[in-house]
Amino acid sequence: MADMTMEFYCTACGKCCLEGAGWLPVVEADIARWETSAPHVLRYVAWEGEAGERRGGLSRSVVTGRETTRCPFVRKRRGRAEYYCRIYEVRPQVCRRYPTSPDHALYTGCDGEFVPAGDAT
Ligand code: SF4
Ligand code: SF4
Repeated sequence: MADMTMEFYCTACGKCCLEGAGWLPVVEADIARWETSAPHVLRYVAWEGEAGERRGGLSRSVVTGRETTRCPFVRKRRGRAEYYCRIYEVRPQVCRRYPTSPDHALYTGCDGEFVPAGDAT
């Protein structure tokens, strides 16, 4: 998060994983992290670019292996309108940085809230 004077609170609505995740960009740092800590994640990357390029999208279904419009790692909590990430500790950079600002959250329909750091109850 760019602004260190603000803290972000996620409501776990899942929108960013369900609706905006048709093509989650995967970058070199993600690939290196998964090679070291979670090689199974690499099976769900749809590779793009020229042969030998290490970039793509996290968009292959865990079940079918086909490309999907939702992140393959989002799951709904049983009996609750909340979602969680099955690879939270090794999630891609794009997810670690989202949303980058209150405007970004508003623009992309995020339900979470930015509050001044230290104002949390
Ligand atoms: S990797 Fe995790 S945080 Fe990122 S879109 Fe998928 S479920 Fe959401
Ligand atoms: S859209 Fe915002 S509030 Fe909803 S899960 Fe994603 S980050 Fe959290």
